[in-house]
Amino acid sequence: MAGAARVLCGAEEERVVATHKAPGACPRCGGAVVATDVESERRILCLPLCLKRKRKYSCTRCLRRLVTLYS
Ligand SMILES: [Zn+2]
Repeated sequence: MAGAARVLCGAEEERVVATHKAPGACPRCGGAVVATDVESERRILCLPLCLKRKRKYSCTRCLRRLVTLYS
């Protein structure tokens, strides 16, 4: 049942395009922040539907996602 629902909604594939250093520091541990450009592709029945690019921020030390800090 869950598998069928996933096929109908389409699977989303993500792959990392690039990573680079971001300004600022992690509010939790003070570690370096890294920006990751991710390309996400949504497929329905093996047909690529749309390609989105988004940038994610995360701490390199505690691996905490810092989305709310920059978005
Ligand atoms: Zn951190």
